[in-house]
Order: sequence, then C-alpha cells, then structure tokens
Amino acid sequence: MKYTEVLIAGGGAAGIMAALAASESGADVLIIEQMGQLGKKILATGNGRCNYTNYYQKAECYRGNDPLFAWKAIQKFGQKETVNLFKLYGILPSDRNGYVYPLSGQALCVRDILNMQLKSAGAEIHIDEKITGAKLYINKKTGKQDGFAVLTNKDRYFTKKLVIAMGGKASPVHGSDGSGYKIAAGFGHSLVMPVPALTLCILDEKYTQDWAGARTNGSVKAYSQTGCLLGKDSGELQFVAQGISGIPVFQISRYISKELSQGGKPYLIIDIMPLYGKREIVCELLNRKNNYTYCSTGDIFKGLLNNKLAAALLKKCGLSLKRPAKELADTSIKKLAAVMKSWHMDVKSTGSFDKAQVTCGGINTDEIDVHTMESKICRGLYFAGEVIDVDGICGGYNLQWAWTSGHIAGSAAGSSVHVPV
Ligand SMILES: Cc1cc2nc3c(=O)[nH]c(=O)nc-3n(C[C@H](O)[C@H](O)[C@H](O)COP(=O)(O)OP(=O)(O)OC[C@H]3O[C@@H](n4cnc5c(N)ncnc54)[C@H](O)[C@@H]3O)c2cc1C
Repeated sequence: MKYTEVLIAGGGAAGIMAALAASESGADVLIIEQMGQLGKKILATGNGRCNYTNYYQKAECYRGNDPLFAWKAIQKFGQKETVNLFKLYGILPSDRNGYVYPLSGQALCVRDILNMQLKSAGAEIHIDEKITGAKLYINKKTGKQDGFAVLTNKDRYFTKKLVIAMGGKASPVHGSDGSGYKIAAGFGHSLVMPVPALTLCILDEKYTQDWAGARTNGSVKAYSQTGCLLGKDSGELQFVAQGISGIPVFQISRYISKELSQGGKPYLIIDIMPLYGKREIVCELLNRKNNYTYCSTGDIFKGLLNNKLAAALLKKCGLSLKRPAKELADTSIKKLAAVMKSWHMDVKSTGSFDKAQVTCGGINTDEIDVHTMESKICRGLYFAGEVIDVDGICGGYNLQWAWTSGHIAGSAAGSSVHVPV
C-alpha cells in the first residue's frame, strides 16, 4: 500500500486546482486520473478557447438545490482570485464582454500551464488509473478513523485526506462517468438526481425538419406542466432537426431536465419576433398579402423571417407554403402572428449527458461545509467541482465553480494534514 497525505480523485479542472492548492499548503499530493491525460475536458471548453471565468458575477449565475451555496464559496475564492492566480501562472486574461479567455485563445495553454504548475509544485500525477473504491481506514491500535484506503485498477493507497473531484455525468467522453457519486455514497452521502444541463431541447414535431439550420434572435420561456414559469432567457436561438438549441435554450435546459425527470410534461413558449408586437406583425403581413398579390404564402415572410423558419411556422399552423398569399384568410394571418410571438412547444426530452455541457444535481450541498468543502458526514473527505450539486449558467461559471471549489477543498485538505483529528 502506497502512502500519501492528500489524494485527489479525478484530474479535471477542479482536481487540478485542488492539487495545486493542497501542494501550496505544504502537503504531499497525489492526483489520480483515469484518462490518458489531465484536464481533457478543459481542452473542449469555450470551443477550444476556454472561457475560464466571467467578470460579471451574481448569485443567480450559480444554481443548485441550495442556490446560495456556490455564491458563499465564490466570496472566498472568486473571479478576481482566479484571474490573479492564473496571471501568476502566466495565463494572461482576454476580456470579451466580461467573458474571460486566455490571451493565447487556446484552452490547450490553460491545461498545459496548470500541468506545468502541478509538476513544479511536486505533485505526483498518475494517469490511466481508475479509482474503483474508497473506504475509511481504521487504525487497528487506536480503533479510530485515520484516513482512507483508496483502491484503483492498478494499486492500493492510504491517504490522510481524500478529495473527490471526479466530475458529474456530462460529456462522459472526457472521463466523467458518474463514478464519483458511487464513491461518495459509500461514505453515506446523498445525491440530488443528476440530469443533463446546458443542452438542447428535443421536440416531437414534424416541422423541426423544415427549420434545421435556421437561427434568429428570440426569447424562450420554460414552463412546468401546471403552467409555472421555470426559467427564461433571450438571445440567438438555433433551430436543429431534433428541436431547438442555442445559448438561451441551454440556460433553461436544466429546469426542463428536472421537470422531465420528475415525470412532468414541460413546455416552451418561444418569441421569434421579440422586437415587434403582435399587432405590428399582423399589419405587416396584411400589407404584404395585399401588395404582393402574385406571391406565394411562403414569399410574404421574405425579409422578415428566415425562410426555413417560415416553412416550419406555416407547417405548425397547417398552412401551405405554396398557396397564393392573396388566399390567406385574415384569421390565418392573426394565427401566424400569434404563433410568432408565442410559439408553444412540448418538450419530449433534453439532450442526453453525451450532448450536455454540465450536470445539474450531484452531491447534496447540505452535507458539505461551504467554508472548506469538507464532508459534514465524514471527516477528512472533501468535494470539488461538478460532482457537487452546483451548476452554473453558460459563460465561464462552471469552470469558475471548479476553480473555486477546487481551491477551497485543496487548501483545507492540505493545511489540515498535520492537525491531529
Ligand atoms: C464541450 C464543453 C464545453 C464547455 N465549455 C465551458 C466553458 O467554456 N466555460 C465553462 O465555465 N465551462 C465549460 N464547460 C463545463 C466545464 O468544462 C465543467 O463544468 C468543468 O470542467 C468540470 O470540472 P470538474 O473537474 O469538476 O469535472 P471534470 O472536468 O469532468 O473532471 C473530472 C475528472 O475525473 C476523472 N474521473 C472520473 N471518474 C474517475 C475514476 N473512477 N478514476 C479516476 N478518475 C476519474 C475524469 O476522467 C475527469 O478527468 C464545458 C463543458 C463541455 C463538455
């Protein structure tokens, strides 16, 4: 059995930050990662550019069953501390409307610099090694808990402190397969059911084939089956063959996933003409119908709506694209305008974990001390990152959560190594 003071389970953003902070506090650190490299997911972030934090920080940017849990931690180690630490490491920030990226524009440089820092801090790194179990280590002489025994597919370890930074279930191709939940459950922790977040909404409508590839500015509101507003957002909507995507849809997807997981039938209301009122749209369509008597129904939307979206809209309203516009009844025009302002869509499902950027749900935050990220159930056990029931909105908040929780957990674990239990 090999001995270490702090064992970090999982080498993603949170685990790397925890390992750096624990090393900084003087502890011997071992980080174990099942993939062939550390921080594989970091490479995929921000479309390969790594949006690692955001200058705009508000409590509402972080979500979870306890919505203030993350915010309390952010007060301790937030965006300012992250940017300063990264600068110290040599990662200079580039500000794009508050979204912070590395000046080099490459996620690779963030991952590589953090790796270099780990090596210079003297942390031991094991890759291609999967953690298969962990349990309390009971000192036979004293009969008391004295650290943890950790089992991998290659070896056995004894560690004084254990940090679980094994991610959630989103994007398993990057290593996060939910195995952190099982390890935590073994220590008595409960789980807020993990569901996909920051993902698309899948619809069961024939017209989605028509709109595939269209984009437009609009707003989206998500409702529960009982008509309760779950969330809303606006911005560029992206229409795909399976349903609807784009950042506004990503932002509300966690609520839809949760509602679906509880057996509900959530729906969306989309406004694809947010700058115009229904009456203005009706007038505009009536004018077009009257002025362009030679046009088809599809033609009267030219310059107003993306033609793919217009085709889907007509299908939704049961109207033909090719019929002469002059035959359009005024009631049909009113119906079209009403749908453009308030398009009802029942959601069949959200994108699977394979397509989701983050996990909504995870280890129950009631069981974690927000000041240290230490388990309230098991002394010496810590959590960091997406494995915890915290998910951020799009824009650098999920990585910020990984840096925040990783730093707090690593510092607390590292500095408590030599404190008698
Ligand atoms: C495509 C994509 C783009 C994104 N873009 C952004 C962005 O621009 N900005 C932003 O803020 N967020 C972004 N995110 C979200 C962000 O990347 C994650 O929230 C964050 O990386 C989570 O870090 P983590 O360390 O908690 O978990 P992870 O990065 O998932 O790391 C967990 C690690 O633990 C390892 N592990 C799991 N189980 C075991 C085991 N049994 N044994 C050993 N190792 C194990 C995994 O292999 C993995 O490396 C994006 C996510 C995706 C998928």
